[in-house]
Amino acid sequence: MSSTASGKSGTWRNWAGNVSARPVRDVTPASVEELSAAVRQAAEDGLRVKAVGAGHSFTAVAATDGLLIRPDLLTGIRKIDRAAGTVTVEAGTTLKRLNVALAREGLSLTNMGDIMEQTVSGATSTGTHGTGRDSASIAAQITALELVTADGSVLACSEKENPDVFAAARIGLGALGVVTAITFSVEPLFLLTAREEPMTFDEVTSTFDELHAENEHFEFYWFPHTGNCNTKRNNRSAGPEKPVGRISGLFEDEFLSNGLFQVANSLGRAVPATIPAIAKISSRALSARTYTDIPYKVFTSPRRVRFTEMEYAVPRAALVETLRELKAMIDRSPLRISFPVEVRTAPADDITLSTASDRDSAYIAVHMYKGTPHRAYFTAAERIFLAHEGRPHWGKLHTREAEYFAGIYPRFGEFTALRDRLDPDRRFGNDYLRRALGT
Ligand SMILES: Cc1cc2nc3c(=O)[nH]c(=O)nc-3n(C[C@H](O)[C@H](O)[C@H](O)COP(=O)(O)OP(=O)(O)OC[C@H]3O[C@@H](n4cnc5c(N)ncnc54)[C@H](O)[C@@H]3O)c2cc1C
Repeated sequence: MSSTASGKSGTWRNWAGNVSARPVRDVTPASVEELSAAVRQAAEDGLRVKAVGAGHSFTAVAATDGLLIRPDLLTGIRKIDRAAGTVTVEAGTTLKRLNVALAREGLSLTNMGDIMEQTVSGATSTGTHGTGRDSASIAAQITALELVTADGSVLACSEKENPDVFAAARIGLGALGVVTAITFSVEPLFLLTAREEPMTFDEVTSTFDELHAENEHFEFYWFPHTGNCNTKRNNRSAGPEKPVGRISGLFEDEFLSNGLFQVANSLGRAVPATIPAIAKISSRALSARTYTDIPYKVFTSPRRVRFTEMEYAVPRAALVETLRELKAMIDRSPLRISFPVEVRTAPADDITLSTASDRDSAYIAVHMYKGTPHRAYFTAAERIFLAHEGRPHWGKLHTREAEYFAGIYPRFGEFTALRDRLDPDRRFGNDYLRRALGT
């Protein structure tokens, strides 16, 4: 097992660059046995323990001052069970590798978020989601989990085996143990047709219920300082495959969404007064297009422009009102926002601390270009989300604490009681969890 003192490996930083940590040491276990031994050793040394994924969370949920467990050698597919329609993967496997491997086997996940750089365990631990009318977050596609608990033992869970652990550990916030393998439900590879289309804010908000009801995956972006939105509807298709053309794909995804967007954001950061004019241009730059491809190529795209983000889930029925309040707040404020606001949905699920737990949900995400102060915008937006019983994404910036979560999650006590049982000494604790879970 490789083990590096932090002095040699340096400081750990997240993708957005807003969180850093100096672990006492880090390890990269190559097997479940090595991982268990590392957890036991840390307990003997009195160190706290934290497994990290790809560092794509904006909160300090993955930060540790003790032992940092890296995912890099716990990767790959353990088993494909075609009869059961499941795949079991090692916890450190990236979503990208999983998706590519599944496609080669003629299989696919049902739903995805908008990138695939995260590890399967990192993504699911904070409730990473895409958009869906009927299909929920990535964690909701889990059928079984294996984790190493605080005493170093290996615990398996599913609906049938340790169901109380299964209910919570699919979105475990890294608080219940180190996940070593995840079994996902998969289905035969299918095609999705994406229809991207500009629409006005008034049109989208006045027809949101129909757009949501008529499409398997509906999402949209609204560009602050404009009345413009870009909508995206993904629906299953009988084919034929019609991928985004290489040249137009490069132009739209690389140049407009990444290259030109980067330049526009840099200009906006240097001269904020230019942002409304830039927003009007960039919101019109993307034209309507339709393409048909395998799911992960439709759901995900590269995100090279760095930013910080806050995202809240509100009851789906409250989406339009919440969004109109957000727009009104921005319109009457001196804020200058160069990043679009992203809106997605998820059906209610049964995971204890899922943002969609027992509630049909809509997500509103606000972003700020890296290096631009975000506090004033996020504070004002958060005030609006909280008035609508918002639940913050566990991996994205928020100011909420345990007392709030106890009120907004009916099963909060179930999660903390399980944590008391599995990790009484808070081996997997950190400052973020102390704030969010109360101890
Ligand atoms: C560009 C970008 C795009 C994004 N798009 C989306 C999106 O579309 N939808 C969405 O919902 N979110 C999105 N996110 C947020 C992101 O998916 C989550 O924050 C996710 O948790 C990050 O996964 P990670 O692998 O980087 O994990 P990390 O951020 O490294 O860790 C997240 C948590 O998982 C825990 N963890 C990691 N590995 C293990 C393990 N083996 N056992 C136990 N706990 C573990 C960590 O301790 C930590 O608590 C995006 C983030 C970025 C930067």
